[in-house]
Amino acid sequence: MLGLTVDGRESPVEGGESRDPRPGSRVPVAILGATGTVGQVLVSRLATHPWFKPVALVASSATAGRKYADAVRWRLPGPIPADAAGLETRDTPPTDVPLVFSALSAQLSAEVEPQLAAQGVTVVSNASTHRMLADVPLVIPEVNAGHLALLEQQRQRWPGAIITNPNCVTAALAVALAPLHRALGLERLVISTMQAASGAGYPGVPSLDLLGNVVPFIEGEEEKIPRELNKLLGTLSDDGITPAGIRVSVHANRVPVVDGHLMTVSAGFRRPATAADVSQVLHEWRAPAIAGELPSTPAHPLLLHSLRDRPQPRLDCALGEGMTVSVGRIRDCAVLDVQFAVLGHNLVRGAAGAAVQLGELCAVRCALSA
Ligand code: NAP
Repeated sequence: MLGLTVDGRESPVEGGESRDPRPGSRVPVAILGATGTVGQVLVSRLATHPWFKPVALVASSATAGRKYADAVRWRLPGPIPADAAGLETRDTPPTDVPLVFSALSAQLSAEVEPQLAAQGVTVVSNASTHRMLADVPLVIPEVNAGHLALLEQQRQRWPGAIITNPNCVTAALAVALAPLHRALGLERLVISTMQAASGAGYPGVPSLDLLGNVVPFIEGEEEKIPRELNKLLGTLSDDGITPAGIRVSVHANRVPVVDGHLMTVSAGFRRPATAADVSQVLHEWRAPAIAGELPSTPAHPLLLHSLRDRPQPRLDCALGEGMTVSVGRIRDCAVLDVQFAVLGHNLVRGAAGAAVQLGELCAVRCALSA
């Protein structure tokens, strides 16, 4: 298996039986920003989803009113899913569906998502707008499914809900770092990101700025990653989430790669730890049973690579249909304790796949109604 150190062991996901919350009927869902970079991956992943059925595709007024196939500049391999191709795009989100997947810009999501929640809709949001609000769950099912309990507080505001997945870098990092934090106590992190072009949406960074080049700046990214990581790895109590208190230094870089964010990480722990300790913790980690019940959870949420030049975006970001997070190059660090590389597919584990998996968690844990 490509020299990966899975050793033929069983899937590290406990439980593993997908539990259909509404046997025999797919929950009708809407996709906001359906023509965009993340929206297209949502359309693709939801087309054959066993629990959810897209019934409304929302885009700007510039494209609304046309059949999706005519409205979208389709950038994914293969044809547009037939059911979606024939749907007419609209510029107003429906309020008669229980669940909405939102791939709107931060600015639009600030306006649209609360309106939907106020109408009783559950919104799974890819945008940064609401992630850090005290009563909004920021969740990765393999990491902190229990944080969904924040919805009890949020329900004082409206009958619906806003639930968020982290930004594309944090989504992959947190899957790799959560087991290390629980076992060894993370204290300090120095992270350099190499972020793919698709992370900036379409058309994103102009090709003449990026081809044959690296841009050592991404607006807002170096601030978001520490905040979101500390919330994800934080502790839930009656008072809300207490952040994990990890000191995080980030250098964010845009690189001329199409898909897949690669991060190099140096980690310092509260107790002395070596590369062997980190390898052992990651190797022995098992995803919680609740994650195993969700169709989007891959057989291997976390995969350790033993080849010395892996993981690489082009070769490894599609593992587990884009939901597997890869870790490699684990070695002792001369400055902090241990260093390693983490790779995740920014549009799948970092956006659309994460959102669908979160929608599945809501379907299992929350009553979806509209
Ligand atoms: P994008 O490619 O620019 O797509 C934006 C989408 O929003 C398009 O479908 C666009 O429709 C739609 N839209 C624009 N104005 C609208 C309006 N007034 N009303 C309704 N829809 C409107 O952006 P993206 O990369 O997919 O990102 C979407 C969100 O996900 C952002 O918040 C981003 O930060 C977040 N995110 C992105 C990634 C990533 O890797 N790209 C990862 C994690 C999170 P038209 O086609 O009609 O213009």
